[in-house]
Amino acid sequence: MELLDDSIVPEEARTVKQEAREFAQEHIAPNAEEYFERGEYAEDILQEGMDAELVAQDIPEEYGGRGLSLSEVLAIAEEFYRADGGIALTLQLASFGAEIVVDHGSEEQKAEYIRPVAENEQRTGLAVSEPDTGSDLAGMSTTAEKDAAEQDSASPASTEATQDGDEWVLNGEKYWVGNGVEADWVTVYAKTGDDPDNRYGNYSLFIVPTDTDGYDAEHIPEKMAFRASKQAHITFDDCRIPEDHLIGVQGAGFYMLAEFFNHGRIVVSGHGLGLAAAAIEEASEFVHDREAFGRSVNEFQAVQHDLAEMRMEFESARALAWRAAKKVANGDQPGYWAALSKATATEAAVDCAERGMQLHGGRSVLTNRRIARVYRDVRVPVIYEGTNPVQRNLIYRQAPR
Ligand SMILES: Cc1cc2nc3c(=O)[nH]c(=O)nc-3n(C[C@H](O)[C@H](O)[C@H](O)COP(=O)(O)OP(=O)(O)OC[C@H]3O[C@@H](n4cnc5c(N)ncnc54)[C@H](O)[C@@H]3O)c2cc1C
Repeated sequence: MELLDDSIVPEEARTVKQEAREFAQEHIAPNAEEYFERGEYAEDILQEGMDAELVAQDIPEEYGGRGLSLSEVLAIAEEFYRADGGIALTLQLASFGAEIVVDHGSEEQKAEYIRPVAENEQRTGLAVSEPDTGSDLAGMSTTAEKDAAEQDSASPASTEATQDGDEWVLNGEKYWVGNGVEADWVTVYAKTGDDPDNRYGNYSLFIVPTDTDGYDAEHIPEKMAFRASKQAHITFDDCRIPEDHLIGVQGAGFYMLAEFFNHGRIVVSGHGLGLAAAAIEEASEFVHDREAFGRSVNEFQAVQHDLAEMRMEFESARALAWRAAKKVANGDQPGYWAALSKATATEAAVDCAERGMQLHGGRSVLTNRRIARVYRDVRVPVIYEGTNPVQRNLIYRQAPR
């Protein structure tokens, strides 16, 4: 069964798609069940992915990467997630957030922080969500203030950063941060202003090396899904970083993040499509092999309709995702297309997994079954990179009128 055929994939992305498929077949799929059971970070497969030049390679060639395009990263996502969500996330998150430094960082930042990631000597994470809020990007409370000791002692204490001082001091907490423990540095979203009339202008982004004093991270508790990936709870306690670790312009953090998420949501569409493909493959195989009432189960029309509807959702979502990838790459209403594609593909995965479970009968609940793993994993992409209700807000607000 060839669900992820490349007729819809642009020519430029087909070679890397084939590389990703071969890698997934050899390294991800055969280890998926074991990693899921153990709930361990897929370190050895990550290393193999690095050796295969399939990790962090969207970084431009001038900084040591392969300069993979958005289409190429989407093609990799489809293939990796079809093989296993948790391992795939570990591979795709090794450079998470680094893209923001590529797009908005200084040449010095790129030389010091981006090149080692492209060369797979370092890995990164993106710290946005907090224990008390994930969706409201203007409601985050982690602060970054200029060193108070350097401020004019006559001025009143303020949470707003000033241009004095030569260090930023971070305080607060972040939650759910992929690689918060494993990363060498993370891109941190923090509050640098307090203007009630400009809620979205109050945030900035920073490069924070994880060995900085005042940075502490621990793994969050066991998850029921994506178990071969690890997320962290980070605390910043007077965590001091040099002034030049600010990425781009102070106060532009929200806008840089929004742009980053437009690309990220296309890639998350690939997460949904890969998982949906896995559910369809698994369900089709099961009903063809299973007998009931003296017939193969796939001969019942109700079962055929389920399989037909899985295909309808999958093919519609896939057509939309590849269309949206082109729109986002061309900067053509990217917020609208990214949200539309992310919500549609990840919900197709939920529906295909649900139907796939039903078609498996009692065997659906055996934890060693691929369908049961997919069923749990599909719960995640509808949440991360902005929950799907939030995507609906964006679709409505940004729809072409
Ligand atoms: C496996 C995993 C990996 C993750 N990795 C990262 C990471 O690397 N870095 C990172 O920063 N974060 C990461 N996240 C966090 C993720 O982005 C957040 O969980 C997500 O944005 C939702 O935030 P929340 O959990 O705080 O939910 P909340 O924002 O509290 O939302 C709770 C509910 O309210 C709904 N809701 C909230 N606001 C609205 C609204 N305006 N309109 C309609 N409904 C609304 C939501 O849809 C949801 O149903 C990860 C999460 C998971 C599960």
